[in-house]
Amino acid sequence: MEKFDAAIIGGGPAGSTAALYLHKQGFNVCLIEKKTFPRETLCGEFLSQEVSNSLINLDLFEGFLSLDPNPITNFKFYDDNNDPIQTELKFTAYGIKRGTFDNYLLSAVKNKGIKVFQPGEVREIIHGNGLITLVIDNGYSPQKIFCDKVIAAYGKQNILDKKLNRDFTSNKSFLNGIKFHIDESLFNVLEKDTIQIFVSKGIYCGVNFVGDKKVTVCFLENRRKIQYNPRNQIKYLMEANKNFRLLFTKEIISAIDDLPPYGTGNIYFGKKDLVREGVYFIGDSSAVIAPFAGDGIGIAMQSAKLISDIFEKQRSNNLNNIQTELFYIQEWKKLFKKRLLIAKSVQNIIMNNSFRGIGYKIIRTFPGLLGYIIRATRG
Ligand SMILES: Cc1cc2nc3c(=O)[nH]c(=O)nc-3n(C[C@H](O)[C@H](O)[C@H](O)COP(=O)(O)OP(=O)(O)OC[C@H]3O[C@@H](n4cnc5c(N)ncnc54)[C@H](O)[C@@H]3O)c2cc1C
Repeated sequence: MEKFDAAIIGGGPAGSTAALYLHKQGFNVCLIEKKTFPRETLCGEFLSQEVSNSLINLDLFEGFLSLDPNPITNFKFYDDNNDPIQTELKFTAYGIKRGTFDNYLLSAVKNKGIKVFQPGEVREIIHGNGLITLVIDNGYSPQKIFCDKVIAAYGKQNILDKKLNRDFTSNKSFLNGIKFHIDESLFNVLEKDTIQIFVSKGIYCGVNFVGDKKVTVCFLENRRKIQYNPRNQIKYLMEANKNFRLLFTKEIISAIDDLPPYGTGNIYFGKKDLVREGVYFIGDSSAVIAPFAGDGIGIAMQSAKLISDIFEKQRSNNLNNIQTELFYIQEWKKLFKKRLLIAKSVQNIIMNNSFRGIGYKIIRTFPGLLGYIIRATRG
């Protein structure tokens, strides 16, 4: 029978960062992660400056650099077959596999002596007697732990959302995300210092080098436009966007069928509740930012810092639970609401063929706008 001040569900960037901050502030926390690490996950694997800033705050930046992430300082956007729009980034971003990055963060949690249940999947969240009980399935015997608060950092969609009766769960989106790691030898041209975005009708794709001889090729697509096989995205975009096709050597065609896809369907970019009965949502479980126009990992790590600041404020100012919950909602909105809205609008423009053409012309006429969009959606 173990009892914690807070239990964190999920060991992605949000969960691990929350564990590190709360532990630093003296809270007795634990983290439960269902998968064995390192594991891959859907992501463009472009880490913005916000991520670097969070790592610096946690004294983890030097260790991160020793993982040899790929520095990225330029941005190029290819709309159909048109010439690219490009800009220098005003910061150094990094490309790194999520398997490596998430494992690095979770290892830092373990190194601090924080209790980690892994593999362990939280199946139930039960309220009663002023405490919250979590039922953890570790593959052989269900285990129970007790806590005052729960931090849900379990990502964009989860069976627990339904169990908690969250409103958005009945929503159907037509957006699929798919990531591939493609060997650098299959590329004709590889601009390692550049994040490249390729767009066509109902689809966009981010391409960046992530070290270890691999290039991340990550799609977001409207599945009504493309047949279900996830590898069809590559073929579809090669046909629709000549700039994308020119990236690859002809050997890509025979290699496509062997590429393991990492992905998910039905990605929901709308509003979610931020607190429910003592369960505080952070990272993607609180909101998913449109990936082209925002940095989910940056937001995940910042929302983790926010929750630990809020719990500290509750403790030092003796706030009750209702005050604390309202305070969290208010501060979360101050930090993220505007940029989520801008990112979603940019994404809607990109996914709509007519708006995208107009947007492309406007940005060609006023190139400074591109820098503004990058700043407005990247914190
Ligand atoms: C197509 C696409 C491309 C993207 N590209 C980028 C990008 O280039 N850069 C960027 O910054 N962001 C990107 N993002 C967003 C980014 O991937 C997320 O914002 C980020 O992963 C959120 O981190 P998280 O910790 O909240 O959730 P996750 O990373 O999803 O972690 C959740 C963790 O919880 C665990 N878990 C789930 N359920 C349970 C349970 N019941 N019990 C225990 N553990 C559980 C999971 O195994 C997982 O490890 C992209 C998103 C999409 C959809």
